[in-house]
Amino acid sequence: MNKKTIRDIDVNGKKVLVRVDFNVPLSSKDPNDNITVTDDTRIRAALPTLNYLLEHGAALILMSHLGRPKSAEDKHFAMDSVVHRLSQLLGRPVRKLDEVVGDGVREVVASMKPGDVILLENTRFHPGEKKNDEALSRQLAELADVYVNDAFGSAHRAHASTEGMARAMREKGGPAVAGFLMEKELAALGTAVDNPPHPYVAIMGGAKISDKIKLIENLLNKADKVLIGGGLANTFLKAQGHEVGKSLVEDEALPEAERLLKTYGDRLVLPVDVVVADEFAADADAATVPVWGIPADKMALDVGPDTLERFNAELQGARLVVWNGPMGVFEFERFAKGTNALANLLARLVDLGVEVIIGGGDSASAVIQAGLADKMSHISTGGGASLELLEGKTLPGIAVLDDK
Ligand code: ADP
Ligand code: MG
Repeated sequence: MNKKTIRDIDVNGKKVLVRVDFNVPLSSKDPNDNITVTDDTRIRAALPTLNYLLEHGAALILMSHLGRPKSAEDKHFAMDSVVHRLSQLLGRPVRKLDEVVGDGVREVVASMKPGDVILLENTRFHPGEKKNDEALSRQLAELADVYVNDAFGSAHRAHASTEGMARAMREKGGPAVAGFLMEKELAALGTAVDNPPHPYVAIMGGAKISDKIKLIENLLNKADKVLIGGGLANTFLKAQGHEVGKSLVEDEALPEAERLLKTYGDRLVLPVDVVVADEFAADADAATVPVWGIPADKMALDVGPDTLERFNAELQGARLVVWNGPMGVFEFERFAKGTNALANLLARLVDLGVEVIIGGGDSASAVIQAGLADKMSHISTGGGASLELLEGKTLPGIAVLDDK
């Protein structure tokens, strides 16, 4: 990575503003409940950076967005639910403030000493955050001597606490550098983009083909094979002329799917059998059928065992595997078999020395749900950010940081 990290700067005695990604799932949407964090992966992922800074004599001002609040009135998205878990994981008290910027914040920050940690309120409670408002960035920059961006999951968005904040810090002469999580994500995903070892097999699944079709083509240019499962596969199967019944299909994407099939031929590997159901429901009757035999009144909700065997064969000998998107509706146990089987298969490949990288929010959840998170070489904490990076896009939150 050609960006400076916290290793390259002096933080001793400094106030360091760290943009973290604490956008975690919560137990409830009711502000009257005792809302808890149901998956603390992203908080844990920030700990190496936070602990390093504290060990090197910094005072930490942390900020993150949480969920998609429409305004500060969406109280259930307040950072109160996060601060308790954060404090437990850091093993020290963390003071949570009720504003993003303002006199109250300035006052508390002015009295901070090395080792102190505060957490600002949800950055999206401020109307300037998503507008990348310069005034907000400058107010944030005023609080600190150093800016650290460790929020890989937000790096694809130019917001006031990310892109704008780095510029504001540079304007006042302070460093704007990457944290360890950012560095780790870029190292893992960057390999797949810049110089992947071969054979390289990419696996794509999930739902929205229009969002992912560009990514599929980019992967076809880098990987030796691209295996397609999940909802994405249906559009390709339809493009091949198969009946897909009531399956999720994006008809607008059919011409693109046809073009990819023509251009890339057998480097694009589709399911050979699928699990179909009458309806989109957890208890729907399931049956496995070959892809040429999908009944017109049914929908494909998972890949079948022959497909997994085919995918397994394609994966043998691979040196790098990148997986994005579940193979089926894994939220329903009955249609999670394909996704779980693939996760297990990939875990065994890791044991054989294969580099396996998981990108995408739901894919990461599926691997965690299968209890295989520790097994993988790398699970990206950034859903959208990891996809944009794999697509070959420049992420504004990273591009703006100080060069080495
Ligand atoms: P990721 O977050 O990993 O990028 P996506 O958001 O693209 O993945 O897709 C995840 C969603 O795709 C899941 O909610 C899953 O239920 C859905 N899905 C997977 N396969 C199918 C299918 N055959 N039909 C309908 N939905 C599917
Ligand atoms: Mg998703």
